[in-house]
Amino acid sequence: MANRDFPKNVDAVVVGGGFAGVYALHKLREIGLTVRGFEAASDVGGTWYWNRYPGARCDVESLEYSFGFSDKIQQEWDWSHRFSFQPDIHSYIAHVADETGVRSLISFETRVLSQAYDAESQMWTVKTDKGEEITCRFCIMAAGNLSVPLFPDIPGLDEFEGEKYHSGRWPEEDVDFTGKRVAVFGTGATGIQIIPEVAKEAEHLYVMQRSPNFSLPAGNRRLTEKEVAEFKKDYPEHRKRARRHLFGVAGVPEPTRSVLELTEEETLETFEQLWAYGGSINFQMAFTDFMKDERANKRLADFVRSKIRQTVKDPETAEKLCPYDHPIGSKRICIDTGYYETFNRDNVTLVSLRENPVQRITPKGIVTEQGEIEVDALIFATGFDAITGALTHIDITGRDGLKLADKWKERPSAYLGFAVAGFPNMFVITGPGSPSVKSNMVLSIEQHVEFAADTIVHMQENDLGAIEPQVAAENEWVDYVSEVANKTLFVKADSWYTGANVPGKPRMFVPFVGGVNTYRLACEDVKQNGYRGFTTEARHKVRETS
Ligand SMILES: Cc1cc2nc3c(=O)[nH]c(=O)nc-3n(C[C@H](O)[C@H](O)[C@H](O)COP(=O)(O)OP(=O)(O)OC[C@H]3O[C@@H](n4cnc5c(N)ncnc54)[C@H](O)[C@@H]3O)c2cc1C
Repeated sequence: MANRDFPKNVDAVVVGGGFAGVYALHKLREIGLTVRGFEAASDVGGTWYWNRYPGARCDVESLEYSFGFSDKIQQEWDWSHRFSFQPDIHSYIAHVADETGVRSLISFETRVLSQAYDAESQMWTVKTDKGEEITCRFCIMAAGNLSVPLFPDIPGLDEFEGEKYHSGRWPEEDVDFTGKRVAVFGTGATGIQIIPEVAKEAEHLYVMQRSPNFSLPAGNRRLTEKEVAEFKKDYPEHRKRARRHLFGVAGVPEPTRSVLELTEEETLETFEQLWAYGGSINFQMAFTDFMKDERANKRLADFVRSKIRQTVKDPETAEKLCPYDHPIGSKRICIDTGYYETFNRDNVTLVSLRENPVQRITPKGIVTEQGEIEVDALIFATGFDAITGALTHIDITGRDGLKLADKWKERPSAYLGFAVAGFPNMFVITGPGSPSVKSNMVLSIEQHVEFAADTIVHMQENDLGAIEPQVAAENEWVDYVSEVANKTLFVKADSWYTGANVPGKPRMFVPFVGGVNTYRLACEDVKQNGYRGFTTEARHKVRETS
């Protein structure tokens, strides 16, 4: 799309065209702002544009993993499955973009390269890879938590002569693995979705596993007309309940008791019921102490390991698939459709990279300590430079020449996970230190977009030119986020939640795990107390609110 008709000066620029970007454009326009959106992809969708690999689907139920801001949209859209597949979710976001009319505000195939704040004019200058320069008062960073794909650093990768894919950059055209020898690197949430699908087509599939993960059956199925109608009848009420819920969902009650109150038989009976029902949130919300008490956690971990052993016929393979190095839940719990069963197929080989590390890639395949595996295609389901990566890849300069990438080298700090000291009028949707990836993200996105809109309205009503967090308030929040995490077992794993998957990234548990409900109250409290913890500036006169 040509960019020449777009204005060069707007009230707000929105970076990203996924769930967050689409809603931000709509909301800001609704409060009367002129807006422009930028999206590197050729369409809206974000995660659900890029991750079109076989088997891609959500793991929060679709009736909940969707927008609540428009009753019209939630009533007219029909989800076909309990956990929808990528094409459906992509179509849904496209539908919302069309319904709200925001598609025409977005420059597609356009990457924001830099943005710099000028304290004098209280304006940002945003530059793109198409050579455009736009000035705006507000920058809304909707660039995603999982949008910068990571490739493993294996010597020889560029020399490989076969096909290469990353799950987070899957091509738009169909990929056919029929008759091909394929290797999948990565057995996290994405690998676990891809592997059973590719195994059905490939002549042979090699699963290159560094760390085994816990996976639970998704129990995915078609939704009946009756259950959709029932849910829709009370949709606004469900959304309200979700906002008050620990994880941001309405359909799963919060836990009230410890698993340790149950006998072993009672525990087993409950776990079997949850296993049969499917999904991970039901498990995670079943008891109060899975993430607080190692004994409680072990009960669940032992149960899942026993299921792996029951499912996988070859005991040696089963054992390699059993995770022992982290508490269950401290890495994202995967949900699958036939993952463990896939290892009973004759055309699937599990290669444990702990016992048999990869030495290099050759033009024809992969050399491990035990020899060369010849393959026609490599699939990397190796994750993302998570949570902060999309923003540190943009050259963002705040007050006094401060670079965001430099500031976040030590620790990724943001007040309420939403605004960053030194970067006035920039709002980060689901930023570091907010519930983000530890919640139903669409709900968290809506809350942050509305927080940004409320903040801008507050500024307009009070004739403010700039707002940014106070350093002390930001530090206090980040300390609090760590304090909450340190009381849980979440910190006991090296995971992308802690930056451990990216060499050189600061190590800390980044998302806020105190609950969507608690977090929402903290934000409301700040707003109701005159934006406590923020510094505001009107006509270059600084005043502090405390
Ligand atoms: C496979 C997969 C499954 C998931 N399932 C769930 C789930 O079930 N439940 C859940 O809550 N969450 C899930 N997530 C998390 C998911 O990322 C969020 O739920 C949600 O889609 C994020 O939306 P977003 O708009 O914030 O970011 P994204 O969807 O990531 O969109 C950000 C967009 O910004 C663009 N962008 C980034 N930088 C720039 C730049 N410099 N210039 C221009 N454009 C830029 C990117 O191209 C991208 O399209 C899943 C993630 C993955 C990868």
